[in-house]
Amino acid sequence: MTAKLISGKEIGNRIREELKLEVAKLKEKGVTPGLATILVGEDPASQVYVRSKGRACDNIGVYSRQQTLPASIKEEELLSLIWSLNEDPKIHGILCQLPLPGHIDESKVLFRINPKKDVDGFHPTSVGLFFTEKNFKDMMDKQLFLPCTPHGIIEMLLRSGVELSGANAVVLGRSNIVGKPVALLLMANNATVTICHSRTKDLSEVCQRADILIAAIGRAKFVTAEMVKEGAVVIDVGINRTDEGLVGDVDFDQVKEKASMITPVPGGVGPMTITMLLTNTVKSAKRSL
Ligand code: NDP
Repeated sequence: MTAKLISGKEIGNRIREELKLEVAKLKEKGVTPGLATILVGEDPASQVYVRSKGRACDNIGVYSRQQTLPASIKEEELLSLIWSLNEDPKIHGILCQLPLPGHIDESKVLFRINPKKDVDGFHPTSVGLFFTEKNFKDMMDKQLFLPCTPHGIIEMLLRSGVELSGANAVVLGRSNIVGKPVALLLMANNATVTICHSRTKDLSEVCQRADILIAAIGRAKFVTAEMVKEGAVVIDVGINRTDEGLVGDVDFDQVKEKASMITPVPGGVGPMTITMLLTNTVKSAKRSL
């Protein structure tokens, strides 16, 4: 079997076209959605992410403001910048690109963002609300904001017609930004979820039981064909820079012969993450009306 490609680029572009119309309607009502991104230091990967977020905003008519701060900035200065963005009526979403330099307490920074502008969904209030909601529809309606990468993964699955209810989903990785939240979202869509990590025994066997396999571990081509059930849906979240370029956590060439659907790297989860950031920013602007 050669798997059907789930293109995050194509699905993301369709969602962005929908958002463009919503932005135009908001502008008619006198509101231009605005996103502020803060980059501390000069990490090249973070610079690329922040630039592509800015471009994505421009393409759908969202106002974007990027602030680059030196790595030596004092924590207090960063916190007061966030405070001023919280108060700024032109800004509906605030994103502080992680990781931050070691002398800055990430949790203090995330806590300082007004939950109403927390379009990354990492504020403890957003996380708490997300955790306590059982049903996906309620999460979408009542949630402040869902975290972008996990939400993007679910959108890709739903828009590709993948049946989540009753499916056996295996999530590789238990981080706060991908593994744990995507597991909760799958559960909210009635999948039966297993979360694996570096201490999981018989990892290969656990993966072989998956109807839906989500790989988010940051290890190049870790998931091989033997680990995948015939006909499984495979979502590759990993972004690994190697000598052969950017590769995912899945050995794409092998696994595509066994899976029924698979995401590429690049062009899979990455564009969906940015699309969901735009979705959250537009949602925040609508709520401000
Ligand atoms: P973390 O490093 O925070 O977490 C990695 C997880 O993988 C941990 O839970 C770890 O287990 C687990 N793990 C590591 N090695 C193994 C192994 N050999 N076997 C089983 N489990 C293992 O990573 P993130 O969640 O932040 O990111 C994961 C990947 O996704 C990265 O490549 C990152 O670049 C990418 N990413 C992509 C995004 C996108 O938009 N496409 C967005 C965010 C991340 P343990 O907890 O036991 O240490």
